This record gives sequence, C-alpha cells and structure tokens, in this order.
Amino acid sequence: MNTKEAKDQSKTKNIQNTSTIEKIIEIEEKTLFESLDKNSKGFIYYSDLIGALESVGIKKTDPRIKIEEDDIDYLAGDDLEGIGKITYDKFKKIIQRSQGNLVQNAIKGNLIIPDFKSFSNEINRIYSTTKKNKAGNVASYIPQLGRVNPEYFGVSVCTIDGQRYSAGDSNVNFCIQSITKPINYCLILEEHGEEKVHKHIGREPSGIGFNGLVLNNKQLPHNPMINSGAIMTCSLIKPDLEMADRFDHVMKYWSRLSGKSPVRFNNSVYLSEKLTADRNFALGYFMRENKAFPENTNLIDTLEFYFQCCSIELNAEGMANVAATLANAGICPITGERVLSPDTVKNCLSLMYSCGMYDFSGEFAFAIGLPAKSGVGGGLMVVVPNLLGICIYSPRLDELGNTVRGIDFCKELIKTFNFHNYDSLTSGNNKIDPRLKRNQSKIEGIISLCSASSEGDLLEVRHLVAQGVDINLADYDGRTAIHLAASEGHANIIEYLISKNVNMNPIDRWGNTPLADAYRSKHQMVIELLEKHGAKN
Ligand code: GLU
Repeated sequence: MNTKEAKDQSKTKNIQNTSTIEKIIEIEEKTLFESLDKNSKGFIYYSDLIGALESVGIKKTDPRIKIEEDDIDYLAGDDLEGIGKITYDKFKKIIQRSQGNLVQNAIKGNLIIPDFKSFSNEINRIYSTTKKNKAGNVASYIPQLGRVNPEYFGVSVCTIDGQRYSAGDSNVNFCIQSITKPINYCLILEEHGEEKVHKHIGREPSGIGFNGLVLNNKQLPHNPMINSGAIMTCSLIKPDLEMADRFDHVMKYWSRLSGKSPVRFNNSVYLSEKLTADRNFALGYFMRENKAFPENTNLIDTLEFYFQCCSIELNAEGMANVAATLANAGICPITGERVLSPDTVKNCLSLMYSCGMYDFSGEFAFAIGLPAKSGVGGGLMVVVPNLLGICIYSPRLDELGNTVRGIDFCKELIKTFNFHNYDSLTSGNNKIDPRLKRNQSKIEGIISLCSASSEGDLLEVRHLVAQGVDINLADYDGRTAIHLAASEGHANIIEYLISKNVNMNPIDRWGNTPLADAYRSKHQMVIELLEKHGAKN
C-alpha cells in the first residue's frame, strides 16, 4: 500500500469511528429522552425535565443548565398555561449545551450522591431534631449582633456536583465574622505562596482563647484561624493596593467561591466592631512591638480591613457553596470555575481541622472529624472533602463562641453518615454512605457473602459479617449464603452461620431449602449437620 492509500484508509477509518461515536451518543440521548417521555408522546413537558433535575438536587436556576426560550414550545390547545413542551430535537440541544454533561449525568443518576432524595430526607430529619435545642445565647459584644433573631435556623448543603438542599432560614443573611479567617488565609496563600505566608504566621493550635494576647516562640501569631493570625493575614492581602480595592478583592473572591451568591457588607456591624475592638488593637500593637508584620504595614488600616472582612454577610446557601468549593479542591461546583489551587485548599482545610472551632477545635476534630470554621455571627461552615460542603446558621452560641445547634447538627450528622475522617477504619459501623447508589451496599454485601460461602472462604465470610452484612439476606433468586455453602459442601461455613443463628430453612425461587441442595449434591457431612440443627427438605 502506498502512502496515499494508507492515508485514505486511515481517513475512512476515522470517519467510521466518528460515525460510530455519533451513533452511540444518539442512542444515549434517545434513551434519556425516552426515560422522561413515559407515555411515548414524542415530547416531554418542561416540568418533566426540571422535575428530573430537581429530584437529584439540581436547581432550575443552576447556571450550568442552559435552557433557552426557544427550546420550549408553548403550543395552543389543551395545554395548561405556562406548561411548555420540549421535542426530542430541542432536548438534544439542551443536553449538548449543558455544562459538564450535567443534564445527562443528573438524569442517569450519575452524580456524587445518587440517591439525593434519601440523603435530603436524612438532612431534614437532623434539622428537625436539632431545631428543638434552644440552648445558648446570641453574641452580645456588639449591639448589632445582639439584636439578631435568636430563633433563626438554616441549613444548606451543596455537593461537589452542585446538588443542593436547604432547610429553614437558609436565605437569611448573617455576618460571617470569624469565617472570614480561612478564606483570607486562602487569598494570601494564592498571592504569596506558603513559604512567605508562614514567615509571618504559625500553624499550630494556640491552646488559648481565639483573642488571646499571646504569640508563639518566634513572636508570631500561632495560626490564621485566631484573631492575631487573622489580623496578620489582612496585612498580607494586596498590601500595595488602595484600601477600597483591597476590600473589593476580598468581596470578589467571596462571590466566586459562592457561585455568585449575594455577598453583602453590614456597615453598622463594621462601625460597632471598630468601636469595641480594644483587644484587637492590643493584639495589633503587640505584634508590631514584636516586629511580626511585613515591612511598611499600616496597623490601623490593617485592623480596619480585618473589621470590614468580619462584617461581610452571606446566607447559608451561599456559604454552603463556598464550603463545597473547598470540598471540590478549589473549583466552584456551581460555576465550574477554578477559584483556588488544590494546594491552597489542602493547607486551609488542614488548619480548619486543627484550629477552626475556637477552644473546641481538638474536641471537634476528635468527635466530628471534619474541617470546619465557625463565627460568632452563628455561622458554621463544614467541609466533607471530595463530597460536599455544609453551612449551618443558628445565632445562639455556647460559652466557647460556637453555634449550639451547629455543633448539635454535626454530632447527629456524624452519627448518621460515614463522614468522620477515620470512619473508613471502622467499616462495620452501619453508617450511611450517601456516595452509593440506592441499595448498592446491601446488594454488594449479599453478592460478596454468597460468593465467599460458595467458595468456602470462611475468613471472608467472617469479615463480611463483621462489616454488618446480614447473613439471612437473599439475592434476586432467593439464594442465601447457607444455600450456596450447602450446594458446594462447605460444612465449616455452615457451622459458622449456625453459630450466628442463621435461618435454617430459607426457600429459594425454585422452592429449594439448603438441605434439599445438600441432598441433590450428595454432601453427606453437610446433610447430617443441617439435619442435626433442624433443617427441612
Ligand atoms: N470580629 C470578631 C473579633 O475579632 C471575630 C469574632 C469571631 O467570630 O471569632 O472579635
């Protein structure tokens, strides 16, 4: 074959490949459409599509879904007003336009939390339980915070795929206060890199209150999550810009991190904060005396900048998006924009884990096992890396400055789901793993147990039982572990299952008991063992 012929042949092959891929895509698109067009009408209603997306937590306002006016036909006739139809051709355009295959993945159930309905129900249950807790008091060190309605309670969750669920007052703006600290820390890591940043701030828990008048043995603030460290952080944010531009820089980051959620500034909190800031001024002068600040730092500007950052407001929905951006290694799930580098996020989460919850940080890391940051405004941002972000807002605080319901919510959350950093070490804990498809863990458990029983692998059977797999569960043919062990003549497995009080007479879909299986396969020892323990044929 000469070169030209070879080229032509490879061209034809490419065309064939392309048309095969196109055909596969076409089949997939058709299948997706048909899954929504339940009565084979040849069109779907707009509400069918939105309903399918919302059932997995994708909001109709999600900027990644790109439905244009023209995609929906509002036909005359028996349609109810406002219900539009989408034909197959228009549907194809919508899914092809959606960012990151969002619509396809949502309809197929291929998002990080596949069974979002069950997950949201659990979140709602935890919300309702926690709501009863009325302990604690609203922060009163400045009058503006003291006037907040103590009853407010909102919870929002956002996954790394942008699935969202909220309960209660999730739209109420609250003052972020100390939650400014981790984000400002991220900003200076992005701007200066880890080495320069940590020439001015340590990364060790201080062991004393968040506003303690103390520095580490290098005369630096202990970490960026306490006031001294946060003031130092502010001195490092765009120091060469005008104050107004420095603040704009911070606000823009909040907007990007929160997927363009409304971010506001509460001027009265700022003014009040400034008036009652003796301790923060003292910390500033103390650090200046110890030459901790970068050269040419203007102390008063820096302190005011810190008070401004504490006076930023967001609602729980927006803050959950910020937490989800951190969970997603710096890419905002809602916009798909990379806002922070993975290294920055890693450093920030490490310090949130060890220092994010005031004097409760060690206890929180121990009991909850997740990076988190709270603020005296009543907000709490929690990150489950690679899965989701949560914000809980409830202004009543405990004596350490953490939201009471926020902590309560986290305790219940960790009892329910396998979110603790070290839950993977205790896999038999019966906690829910929402990453699994509905019944996935149950089905996997049955299949593994049946297969280990049929192979006579006692060690594996013991492991599976220790992990919480139910020995009496049957597969879709009604076959159980003891059926399989009896068929294959594994007396050791049967003895073990008997010691765990297995049901001796389960009936499979052909009407067979384990004893019947043993007779058919002529396993004499097994027959005797089963009969001794009351098995029937
Ligand atoms: N603005 C507060 C202060 O510096 C922050 C309080 C907080 O949430 O920890 O005192």
